Amino acid sequence: MTLTDLGLPMPVRPAPAGMPDTGPLLDTFGRAATDLRVSLTDRCNLRCTYCMPAEGLDWLPENQLLTAEELDRLLAIAVTRLGITSIRFTGGEPLVAQHLEQTIASASALHPRPEIAVTTNGLGLARRAARLKAAGLNRVNVSLDTVNAEHFAQITRRDRLADVLAGLAAAAAAGLGPIKVNAVLDPRTGLDDVVPLLRFCLDHGYQLRIIEQMPLDAGHEWSRDTTIEAETVLGTLRRYFDLQPDPSPRGSAPAQLWRVDGSQSTVGIIASVSESFCGACNRTRLTADGQIRSCLFSATETDLRALLRRGADDDALEAAWRTAMWAKPAGHGINDPSFVQPVRPMSAIGG
Ligand code: SAM
Ligand code: SF4
Repeated sequence: MTLTDLGLPMPVRPAPAGMPDTGPLLDTFGRAATDLRVSLTDRCNLRCTYCMPAEGLDWLPENQLLTAEELDRLLAIAVTRLGITSIRFTGGEPLVAQHLEQTIASASALHPRPEIAVTTNGLGLARRAARLKAAGLNRVNVSLDTVNAEHFAQITRRDRLADVLAGLAAAAAAGLGPIKVNAVLDPRTGLDDVVPLLRFCLDHGYQLRIIEQMPLDAGHEWSRDTTIEAETVLGTLRRYFDLQPDPSPRGSAPAQLWRVDGSQSTVGIIASVSESFCGACNRTRLTADGQIRSCLFSATETDLRALLRRGADDDALEAAWRTAMWAKPAGHGINDPSFVQPVRPMSAIGG
């Protein structure tokens, strides 16, 4: 039984018809979510133009953020009841969250042990890579759009390229590989940046993944006309590199991989806009303030924080999470005329 803080039974909504109450975390299209994206904070120490305005945002109030203990409880439900096998901590900037190491340690003690990854902008990673590894972190993705210091400062509005490069090196030294580098190409400089960026990644043994810019910027300024699409990126790269499709099965991976110059090294293209991969999506998302989103582009959220703070038991939390995912839409609809950009920007959802 679930209890409210008044000690009264909490109304439990009936489960939607046909929704299983055990087993994998399913939606009505038969997709099973096994990959959980957890945003640890909406705050960040960079101001990437495609994500945040120069002045930052109105951050979520402290009392609305899940505490480390609340988060541990939800992670345990995700892994032990809902079949989540991989957890990625993101944000905002996850390294800004003080409890990151503690949360990773708790998650890595769960059975069956999930694969644990972090997506970070790399600031401060040089100092923390070894500690994160010791806490149980398996892998990192580091976001880096260019190795040109001037372009980096224009894109992120901070002169911090050297810190990101040091973070990448420390992650590699700590054994947090395979290391992936996430790049969103700037409409002005991206096609100039992408060739040296791929050379840098090949030289260091990092896998570059180029992500099409999505309509998730806080300023709602995204335009399809200025987005550098996958075909354009491939056309540019092919002038300098031999690219052959990677023969490994893609599964639910968002990136289409290309083998470079006949080697085992690959570059990935994430064509979220021009060639969506929603049909194979295996993700569920938890925001820093405890909301479940079934999709990056969801228009609705399910408030697990309110349930937690009203004393809901694990059965009720599990049922609410399942119900949220059962309603996952077929796709993001970016290319539909009726598409409406979500109110939350990428930094507050968790990319
Ligand atoms: N701060 C961390 C970072 O930058 O890696 C984690 C959060 S960030 C929101 C996660 C990823 O989303 C980054 O790789 C970033 O490049 C990407 N991203 C941010 N805004 C985006 C947008 N509008 N379209 C596509 N990707 C975006
Ligand atoms: Fe910060 Fe990551 Fe957004 Fe850049 S993409 S502003 S690093 S949250």
